[in-house]
This record gives sequence, C-alpha cells and structure tokens, in this order.
Amino acid sequence: MGKRKHVVIVGGGFGGISAAKKLKKANVDITIIDKTNHHLFQPLLYQVATAALSPGDIAVPIRAILGERKGLKVLLGKVTNVNKQQNYVELKSGRQINFDYLVMAPGAQYNYFGNDSWKDHAPGLKSIGDALQVRERILLSLEKAEQLEDPKLREPYLTYVVVGGGPTGVEMAGAIGEIVKRNMMRNYNTFSKNETRIFLVEAGPKILNGYPNSLSERARETLEDMGVRVLQNTPVTDIDKGQVSFSEGTIETPNIIWAAGVAASPLLSSLDTEQDRTGRVKVEGDLSIPGNDTIFVIGDAAYKTDDEGSPLPALAPVAIQQGEFIGNLIKNEIAGKERKDFHYVDKGTMATIGRAKAVADIRGFKFSGFFAWILWSIVHIFFLIGFRNRFRVFVEWMWHYFTFKRGVRLITDRFTESDED
Ligand SMILES: Cc1cc2nc3c(=O)[nH]c(=O)nc-3n(C[C@H](O)[C@H](O)[C@H](O)COP(=O)(O)OP(=O)(O)OC[C@H]3O[C@@H](n4cnc5c(N)ncnc54)[C@H](O)[C@@H]3O)c2cc1C
Repeated sequence: MGKRKHVVIVGGGFGGISAAKKLKKANVDITIIDKTNHHLFQPLLYQVATAALSPGDIAVPIRAILGERKGLKVLLGKVTNVNKQQNYVELKSGRQINFDYLVMAPGAQYNYFGNDSWKDHAPGLKSIGDALQVRERILLSLEKAEQLEDPKLREPYLTYVVVGGGPTGVEMAGAIGEIVKRNMMRNYNTFSKNETRIFLVEAGPKILNGYPNSLSERARETLEDMGVRVLQNTPVTDIDKGQVSFSEGTIETPNIIWAAGVAASPLLSSLDTEQDRTGRVKVEGDLSIPGNDTIFVIGDAAYKTDDEGSPLPALAPVAIQQGEFIGNLIKNEIAGKERKDFHYVDKGTMATIGRAKAVADIRGFKFSGFFAWILWSIVHIFFLIGFRNRFRVFVEWMWHYFTFKRGVRLITDRFTESDED
C-alpha cells in the first residue's frame, strides 16, 4: 500500500471547513492552516458591530469543530507563499509544508480601491477585531455626544455613514437605524434620537445590486422609513480622519463603516495563474487551477462561472458547496473514481434590513417583510456551527425581539484613543 496522501487546506472559513469535514472520512492526512484560530460566521459580524451579539456567538475554534482524528492537524499560521513546482506552502514563520493536494480557501478582504489610508478611518467588517472596533467607535461616539451641550458640536458624533449598498451595508445601516429608533438612545439624556443621521452611500444606481429591482427598491424604502438616508449614484471621493467626502460635499463623523468593494486574498498571486480584476483565481470546471490538477481554489478566492456563464457570487453557500465538492473529489480520486465538474445549486439570496424586515429571492419567488425575516433567521441559525452557538444566538434574538435591548455594550480600552478623555 502506498503512502497516505497529504491534503493541505489553507483557510478555515466556509470553504476550508466544508472540505476538511468531508475529508475526515477519507484515507488521507489533513493539515488545515488558518491565520486565526477560529472559524468565523461572517454574515453575523454586523450584529457584533452593533452590540447585538458577542464575538463568541459567531466564532468557534477550528480545532473544536474538526475534533480529533489520526493524521489531522490544525495549524495557526499565515501562509505567505505557494510553491507549485515543488508542492509546498510556506508560512510566515518560514516553515514549509509539503502537499499532495492543496485546497486554497483564503477568502477575500476589503478593497479600498488603491486608497489604503481610508482603511484607518473607515474600518470594514471582516474579522472579530473589525467588528469590535466599529462597536467601540459607535458606543464611544454616543458617550461623547452625551457630554456636549451644543447640538452643533455633537452632530458628528450622532452621524453614521455606511459606504457600500450591498447586503452588508444594508444590514449595517438597518441595524444602526434600529439602535437609534428603539433602544439604546433611551439611555442617554442630553440628546434626542431625532438628532441622529444615518447615511447609506452607494456609488451605483441602486442598493442590493444583483438582486431584482423590486427587492432593491423595497429595501431602499424600508431603510428610508427607518430614518436611513440612502444616497445612490454617490461615489466617495475621499475619507480622512472624521470625515467622508463626495462630489456634493463632506459629512463629518468618526463613524464611517466601509462595506464597499472586496478583493481576493493577495496570497493567490503566488499561484502565478490567471486572476480576474478583483484577484480571484480563474479555475477549471473541477475547481483546479489551469495546468495543475492537484491545486484547487474555492470560495471567495475562486472565479467560477455558472452554467449560464455568469460568475458565481461571493456567498457562503458557494464556498460550502465547493468545499464539499473538493472533499468528495479527492476522496473519490483516491478510490480510483473519475473526476466530475462542479455545478452550483442556487437556493436563493436574502438580506435582512432590521427587526422583522428582510428581502428574499428564492428561486425566482421574491418576497419581503416579516416572512422573509423569519426565513433569514432560520437559515442563519441553521448554518451557525455548533449547538451552543445556535442556542445562544436564538436566545439573544428572542431577547432583542421582545425587549428591543442590545446587551453587549461594553467599551474596553482596546480601540480607545489614549489622547482623548
Ligand atoms: C460582513 C459580511 C457579511 C456577509 N454576509 C453574507 C450573507 O448574509 N450571506 C452569505 O451567503 N454570505 C455572506 N458573506 C460572504 C461570506 O461570508 C463569504 O462568501 C464566505 O465567508 C466565503 O468563504 P471562504 O471559505 O471562501 O472564505 P472565508 O470564510 O473568508 O475564510 C477564509 C479563511 O482563510 C483564512 N486566511 C486568509 N488568508 C490566509 C492566509 N494567508 N493564511 C492562513 N489563513 C488565511 C482567514 O482567516 C479565514 O478564516 C458576508 C461576508 C461579510 C464579510
């Protein structure tokens, strides 16, 4: 009998974890490497940023998810290079790890379109650290506003700008709208909720681009009803400390949240193969890279078209299905079976806008409102990993639904600027 094949998986996100879970039952050694020690449920990051959930509700250690198994290793480390000639990946520490099969699932990161300095003033939502930073800024702003008697002086601290009208921007703006309208504001005495301004800024002609026009329009109306001003056809021209500019003018606020473009992981360029304009690797039908059938790229890192020729969206179900597909492909190949091509099964898209408000497009059936929100909640609870997390999130949501209260409102000194008091 030959030596067991070694499968290296880079990334413990939706794609990497799905591949690893499938491979656990295969006759292979597995090494999964991630630069963090946890799998993160990114679709609920905005709830951590808006003090509805705690980090531990949406993140689970990768080691805990995969459990024990002979020949399975979970490594904490950042992969900095892939050598596809000699079949090894290299970690930041300099360590090299050989592979027989490589599954690249490093996901994406926010793209500031070449304006890297904007990042310091307008954090995106990609990690637990990002979400806590946004949460801290929002809470700190409210504390500052509480101390200012002059409404003009406190205006910036009661202003929120979310850049990017995709699902994340819509969810974030809606959640801030909820905070403002309902609960947190009641705990402050100096200002009224009517002083709060929330802007959702989108460069394109509509929010929720990629959704049917009727749902985009419904989302816009719902947000406006919640007090969010939706600025469409409004590209951001500059972001500096405490201010964001457009061709029409400037808004002053420390609360700027970036939910605009994304770019695939920079690590992918070391594969030295064709990438699209956002850095995603163009893969073959079986998700391998051209000219190398042992290296696969999946999830947000991959550019793959559907059966009609349109690129697959950067969504969790795509990454999950691709991870499972690769796990099965490797398992079958070792058992001497032939490879097949990947086909995505689209079960629909949804976005939530706030309490009891969402839009959904399920196989052409478009609907919005309470029913869409219930469906959104069920799907998100279902996809959360781990019974404990599902239970905790369910209880938290019930609590919010009936009390309108947000529980996780702590300001630690992690992101507080030391020169301000
Ligand atoms: C705020 C937000 C909201 C979203 N909402 C939704 C939603 O409602 N519905 C939906 O379907 N999708 C949503 N998405 C998209 C969804 O989260 C992604 O499509 C999905 O996470 C992609 O899975 P992935 O495995 O490709 O990458 P990821 O899940 O991003 O995982 C990549 C992993 O690779 C690790 N990694 C990266 N680089 C390295 C490196 N060099 N070395 C080692 N490890 C590395 C990262 O730490 C991470 O754990 C949302 C995304 C965000 C950011």
